[in-house]
Amino acid sequence: MEPNEYIELEEKYGAHNYKPLDVVLNRGQGIWVWDVQGNKYMDCLSAYSAVNQGHCHPKIIEAMTEQAKQLTLTSRAFRNDQLGLFYKELCEITHSHKVLPMNSGAESVETVIKAVRKWGYKVKGVPEEQAEIIVCQNNFHGRTITIVGFSTDPTAREGFGPFTPGFKVVPFGNATAFEEAITPNTVGFLVEPIQGEGGVIIPPDGYLRRVKELCEQNKVVLILDEIQTGLGRTGKLLAEEHEGIEADLTLIGKALSGGFYPVSAVLSNTEVLGVLRPGEHGSTFGGNPLACAVARTALKVLMEEKMIENAAVMGEYFLNELKKIESSKIKEVRGKGLLIGVELFPDAGGARQYCEKLMTKGLLCKETHDHIIRFAPPLVIKRQDIDWALERIAPVLSA
Ligand SMILES: *Cc1c(COP(=O)(O)O)cnc(C)c1O
Repeated sequence: MEPNEYIELEEKYGAHNYKPLDVVLNRGQGIWVWDVQGNKYMDCLSAYSAVNQGHCHPKIIEAMTEQAKQLTLTSRAFRNDQLGLFYKELCEITHSHKVLPMNSGAESVETVIKAVRKWGYKVKGVPEEQAEIIVCQNNFHGRTITIVGFSTDPTAREGFGPFTPGFKVVPFGNATAFEEAITPNTVGFLVEPIQGEGGVIIPPDGYLRRVKELCEQNKVVLILDEIQTGLGRTGKLLAEEHEGIEADLTLIGKALSGGFYPVSAVLSNTEVLGVLRPGEHGSTFGGNPLACAVARTALKVLMEEKMIENAAVMGEYFLNELKKIESSKIKEVRGKGLLIGVELFPDAGGARQYCEKLMTKGLLCKETHDHIIRFAPPLVIKRQDIDWALERIAPVLSA
């Protein structure tokens, strides 16, 4: 079949809830992917940071196929021999005490909202139905009704109400605004260490440290959504390490499976998860043996193959080289580790056309918001690959 035929099938039979670049891929390895005609591309999106370990990592393939032959799903009605080991290894790596496994990132966000509300009523003593959770402007936490209900992006919200009450929005990066929003009924603060979908927005140094102090002083649970920033993307296992803090609750997903399978988790270092009793929350697939085996290996290769250290070194190099590009179109280049945003001036005509031009040169990336290009290649990228990318990016952005 020709590329156009695949595209026509998608357009004809699928809901149009995405506007992908028109490249039809059928193979991936490491940082590279191939289209159905055999053209090769560097993947500078990594499936929104789900493929941090690189496409089709051989050790994860092996773990997945071996486990698939053995046992895939028991449901949590019964126990399985992978779940406990997954918990233990994940807790040891992240210094957490408890884990609650789910599938998609949005599900882990929903889970944390339930847990922290219940904690508010049972432990903090908030009057029934009064719990408040504070979130940030320009947030991205997923696509369920509750989550889009506290989005500030009109495209995410419009036409989908009525929404879940109990959320308050404050500006991102402003600890004073957060402090002023806290009331005796505030149970949690849900925030991304760096806003990824929001355009790679990095808060001022010290923001999360101050927020953590305020949370402690006011008995508010600090919930970091590290679904995109976690698992090495920013050059640390968790982005919170840049600020030297530990969140009370941390959400991870995406790269937790190396892109093989939806696996997410709520990590807890407080008693918050302890408030959940049997029957109050769950998921048929959450914590299944296939997911656990895949995630255990995805974590193992991330650590063993020093991908996090590589992200720090290569990220700094990539960022600095991007900053050297002379172009009247570039407003700002910013990033941490291998999560990099290039913001264009409004009169550059939107980021999409540059992504399309880069695609024709063999580099895949995606705009976020209209005028920001995100570069987030798999963490296995090497210096010579970055030079290859820069040779394509520089002429496209300065033309
Ligand atoms: C991708 C993402 C989510 C949602 O994850 P899904 O698996 O798409 O549901 C939530 N939070 C952040 C920060 C994300 O980047």
